[in-house]
Amino acid sequence: MKRLLILFILPLSLIGQNIEQIFSGKNEIYFSFDYKNKQELDNLSKIISLDHKTNKYTAYAYANKIQFNNFLKRDVKYQIINNNVYYNNISKNNWDYYPTYNQYVDMMYAFADSFPQICKIHSLGTLNSGREILIINISDNVYQRENEPSFLYTSSMHGDELTGYVLMLRLIDDILNNYNSDSYITNLVNEIDIWINPLANPDGAYAGSNNNVWGATRSNANFVDLNRNYPDPQDGPHPDGNPWQDETLMFMGLSDTINFNISSNLHTGAVVANYPWDTWPQLTADDNWWRHVCNEYADTCQYYGSSNYFTGFDDGIVNGYDWYEVDGGRQDYMNYFKQCREFTLELSNDKTPDPLDLPSFWNANYHSFYNYMEQSLYGLRGIITDSITGLPLEARVEIVNHDMDSSHVYSSLPIGNYHRYIYQGSYQFTFSKNGYHSKNINASIINNNITFLDVQLVPTSFVSIKEIKTQNKTTESIDLLGRKNNKTIKNLKINLNNDGSITKKIIIE
Ligand SMILES: [Zn+2]
Repeated sequence: MKRLLILFILPLSLIGQNIEQIFSGKNEIYFSFDYKNKQELDNLSKIISLDHKTNKYTAYAYANKIQFNNFLKRDVKYQIINNNVYYNNISKNNWDYYPTYNQYVDMMYAFADSFPQICKIHSLGTLNSGREILIINISDNVYQRENEPSFLYTSSMHGDELTGYVLMLRLIDDILNNYNSDSYITNLVNEIDIWINPLANPDGAYAGSNNNVWGATRSNANFVDLNRNYPDPQDGPHPDGNPWQDETLMFMGLSDTINFNISSNLHTGAVVANYPWDTWPQLTADDNWWRHVCNEYADTCQYYGSSNYFTGFDDGIVNGYDWYEVDGGRQDYMNYFKQCREFTLELSNDKTPDPLDLPSFWNANYHSFYNYMEQSLYGLRGIITDSITGLPLEARVEIVNHDMDSSHVYSSLPIGNYHRYIYQGSYQFTFSKNGYHSKNINASIINNNITFLDVQLVPTSFVSIKEIKTQNKTTESIDLLGRKNNKTIKNLKINLNNDGSITKKIIIE
């Protein structure tokens, strides 16, 4: 009660001090408030600077000290959005140091708080240590599934390989802050379902202390190498002899939930784009496509980076198995079991480089980060639906005389969209699903271009009747249940083509 009284009788000078505190160390604050009607909002917009994130109920705004003083006089309840954690600690220092664990968590939540319409944070789970595995989802309609490829960057599953950790935080910041101002980035956000997990092994990264990364370990808290802990196409579910770790289970759960089409897994210790496979010597069906996108990555880094950056191995790229065999790696798991195109990206020879060098790694890599993201839009894509109901289908897309070792893909629900990345050329695609007639369709693909192909699959049941209905317009309707003029047809004889179309007339008795 006493406290309340004090609040009520605060003299103006004390309110002034309060504002001094709010503005301590900054000239501008960011805040939100609920408003009742447009008139109120219009009036307030004359005092403060409304942000484009303002929606029907909640306004987001910036204010300097004088503006905010005027705003306070209107007696509107407000909430300061505390994005100073990442702005002050990291971005204002040019992203040249490793955040503490708590700074990292605050930063991730601040991203989502600051850009709620295009950015959502998910916790994949909390480890026994209490540390969380966090992932940011960025898209134009971040709360709804759309006809978009799902793209994933994840870094530092080896806890002491930390270049990608800070670069991914910076990438999130770059995307969010350039949305609606940079047309290239705006387009990526509008067209792609982007997921970024900067730190896949927080227990390894902060093994020494939550306050710094200098005691970081490669393995997780159980001393397990997470990049040997996944089911392997050749070596079975537990190639390392360990049970699946919590981190592994969280990522497997994520990849079961989100149908990632394309991804990259960031490491350090070398500088190279490592493409599948890691576990066995045979090449993937799409080896030429892999070399194309990895060369694009490496060449762009050569252009923007310091001399000799991304020039090792075969001009900055390498086939994984050619380099050294990895069993139980996440790259092969994603490619083989999840039909997601994932490659392993090695960003720096130093596992945990001098943080002052992180900005130069950013300058060398960020164009490539975006290029690879852009690749998610290319290749053959479309929506697969049921020809009768129009409902989306989860169907298989396979390339005749091409696909092998699980290189086919599936369309995914709830949209029915599929994305088949492939090197340019002409191919025959087979679209199939149990209970439907398969369809073979020829299509041509050009590198770094999109070929759209929507496909309607004809169900094996009832379909003939529907076809008759559309073909034989002069007769009375024959409905989907096989009735003519509401009388059940007793005898149907139909010859169908492979795709479900009718070759022979029917006899109705
Ligand atoms: Zn690694």
